[in-house]
Parts: sequence; C-alpha cells; structure tokens
Amino acid sequence: KLRAHALSRSFGRGTRALAALGPVDLDIAPGEFTCIVGPSGCGKSTLLRIAAGLLRPTAGELSIRTASPRPAAMIFQDYGIHDWKTVLANVRFGLDIQRVPRREADARARDWLVRLGLADFAGAYPAELSGGMRQRVAIARALAVEPEILLMDEPFAALDAQLRTIMQDELLDLTQTTRTTTLFITHSLEEAIVLGDRVLVMSARPGRIIAEHRPPFARPRTGDIRSTPEFTALK
Ligand code: ATP
Ligand code: MG
Repeated sequence: KLRAHALSRSFGRGTRALAALGPVDLDIAPGEFTCIVGPSGCGKSTLLRIAAGLLRPTAGELSIRTASPRPAAMIFQDYGIHDWKTVLANVRFGLDIQRVPRREADARARDWLVRLGLADFAGAYPAELSGGMRQRVAIARALAVEPEILLMDEPFAALDAQLRTIMQDELLDLTQTTRTTTLFITHSLEEAIVLGDRVLVMSARPGRIIAEHRPPFARPRTGDIRSTPEFTALK
C-alpha cells in the first residue's frame, strides 16, 4: 500500500527555487496498477524518486506499507544499471542483496535474461549493448527480486513497438499473478490505458494530479485489449 499526502518538491532556494512537483495526493491499493501520464518536466520522475525514498519531499508525507519480506523495486528512466558489472551480475544484483544462494540467484537471473531475449548476453557488459537492451537489463533486474511494489519510470520507452507489446503483456501477466502494486510512468496514453487499472494525469510543472480515469471497460482476462473495438475507438 502506498499513500502520499500533499507531497511537493522544489529544487534550489529562495528566489531561485523551482517548484517541480505538487502538491500531490496518492492512494494506491495493494495489487493495483496505477499509471501516471503528464507532460515532460512536470515532475513524474521526481514523484517516483520520492516514492522510492531516493529524494525527500519538500513538504508532505509518504507512507509505504508492505507485507514484507518482498521488497520494493524501481526501474529508472536512465536505466540505472551498473556499467562495471556483466549483464548477469546486474540482474543478480537484487538477489545478491537478498542473500539468495549463488546458484539459485544465477538460475533466476538467467531465466529473466531468457524471457527478455538477452540469453546470449549474460557475460556482456552494458557498454556493449543497445539502449533497448540496457533497458531490458534494468527491467530484468527489478523483476528478478519479485518486488511487492514496483516503481517504473518509462521502462519501455527505448523498446521497439513489437518488443514493447511483448513486455507489456509480460508485465501485466506478472503483476496480476503476483498482485504486485505498480506505479508506472509513461508518456503514452495508449500504454497507460493498456496497462493501468487507473490512469492519473498530471498538469505541467509543478505537476499536480488533475484527472483520474479508469478505463471505461474491463480489461479482458484473456486476449488482447488492443484488439477490442473499444480500444480501437479510443485512438
Ligand atoms: P520527463 O517526462 O521529461 O522525464 P518528468 O516529468 O520526469 O519529465 P522531472 O524529471 O521530475 O520531470 O523534473 C521536474 C522538474 O524538476 C524539471 O523542471 C526539472 O528540471 C527539475 N528537476 C528535477 N530534478 C532536479 C534536480 N536534481 N535539480 C534541479 N532541478 C531538478
Ligand atoms: Mg522523467
């Protein structure tokens, strides 16, 4: 469960202070998939970094309650992977922190590399990969720890359309079966509608939540929402 009350953040001081975010209220139920869309620079990444505990709000409160020991994981807009580690070691990173035994950690990490089409790159270094591949390494690293809360900052932005669709399906499948609470930032309203139980829309900087949508039709349990007439009509 993730709850934020009157969160705001500014950068700098005095007359040069820049209001970047908020105030924002958020209430995300366990297992809910919430998408946030909003214009560039409105404070989406700032909000996610606050939610991840990487940045302090200037004002307001944030509370996260998990039924531990499942952790929270974050996927950064700029990947945030470790350039000095191999792909496999990057994906194993969270598992190492959790003290998962080496052989099991290796096996789970390799399994994620296979799912993300990176099986042949386990021993490669991030510098040898394309942007989309690095992003997939970051996704694999976050999902490998089976987080209870997943914070994703435009994780599919660097992927081609086909891979993005595959990853959306994979993510939906995973978050539904494991009831992962997910906060997902995207520039794409289409992506937000495909993925979200609800979609929050932020205003321009300093971003506030100005609208909340629930997709007007139930997400099908089977099949692809993108092929329903309702979805086609939205475009
Ligand atoms: P995008 O869609 O382009 O990723 P965003 O909505 O994620 O944008 P943020 O990265 O949260 O936007 O930035 C919001 C505002 O705060 C921007 O004006 C940005 O310049 C400013 N900002 C963010 N981080 C810092 C920082 N560390 N120091 C100063 N200003 C910052
Ligand atoms: Mg951002």
